[in-house]
Amino acid sequence: MLIIMNPSAGADEIAAVLRAARDEGLHPRLAVRDGATVIACAPSQRAARLGGLTGVRRVEAIATPYVLASRAFQAGDTVVRVGSVEVGAEELVLMAGPCVVESSAELELVAPALRAAGARVLGGGALKPRASPYALLGLCPEGLEPLGDVGSRHGLPIVSEVMDPSEVAAMAERVDLLQVGAHNMQNFELLKALGQQRHPVMLRRGPSATIEEWLLAAEYILAGGNTGVILCEEGIRTFERATRNTLDLSAVAVVKAASHLPVIVDPSHAVGRRAYVGAMARAAVAAGADGLFIEVHPDPGRALCDGAQALRPTDLERLGADLAVIAGAVGRRFPGPAPTTERTSGRGACGPFGIRSLI
Ligand code: MN
Repeated sequence: MLIIMNPSAGADEIAAVLRAARDEGLHPRLAVRDGATVIACAPSQRAARLGGLTGVRRVEAIATPYVLASRAFQAGDTVVRVGSVEVGAEELVLMAGPCVVESSAELELVAPALRAAGARVLGGGALKPRASPYALLGLCPEGLEPLGDVGSRHGLPIVSEVMDPSEVAAMAERVDLLQVGAHNMQNFELLKALGQQRHPVMLRRGPSATIEEWLLAAEYILAGGNTGVILCEEGIRTFERATRNTLDLSAVAVVKAASHLPVIVDPSHAVGRRAYVGAMARAAVAAGADGLFIEVHPDPGRALCDGAQALRPTDLERLGADLAVIAGAVGRRFPGPAPTTERTSGRGACGPFGIRSLI
């Protein structure tokens, strides 16, 4: 439910409505929409009772269980800033890197290919949740250091995974975009911690999560007041075993209609085979994705993790040229080779709507 306040409503009146909504157990969040103060509440018949309070213009019902993530709450697209890069704007954003950071030398081999392919963000795992406790769980948190150094040298903001609420603050100091892995999509304590800070977050869809559950997970972060949420589709569990998972491209169309949040597609983890990554990357752009996340490794045969799905640097450059053509056909732009300036801008997220914490 949305309680729309009159533009003339004073702070006292807004505070009184917030108090009443809290008393009704509606988990109110104060937000600004199109310049007007809005109080977003959990979906409930009880919100309608607040329509008569002083300063309230009207109460709008929302058809979905998520509110802040919905198009009903915000019609225009959210643009999330990752370092100097905008995700969700006209220009598509390619994020790429190795599954797990192995060394500085490895990153130095892929970074020029990223730039040549038009990639704008460097990704790589330091610590990783895996389905098996015997799989490589990442080398060490120190993996972030080469990632940051190489990203900085090549003017690429960096993305890496955060696994535990206690790590959020330290990770936010070191990466431009905090990633929640698919296995952690419903780690609610982690989502709440990410909502309490202002660094942008990329939320991967769990392999067995419905689109509604995915958007409700995003709602946890938004409800804390963090507006910088990017969604990432990386395939869902089906009966099909020819690919690692089944890339749910229809989710891109569904989410773009239901939500204002940007959507990235990761074809590498979805299909799990190098041979199919390019086709699905091209299809994702055609389907309306705001960008891609693609695994790349200088020598995939010797990669410590996910080598079968990693593109070689030259594959990535070729794919970048294809993406520029498809982007143009669907009214988007793909940047081409990156400029040579080093990263200078600050980090942090900013969406077009602002949510202040509760009074
Ligand atoms: Mn991987």
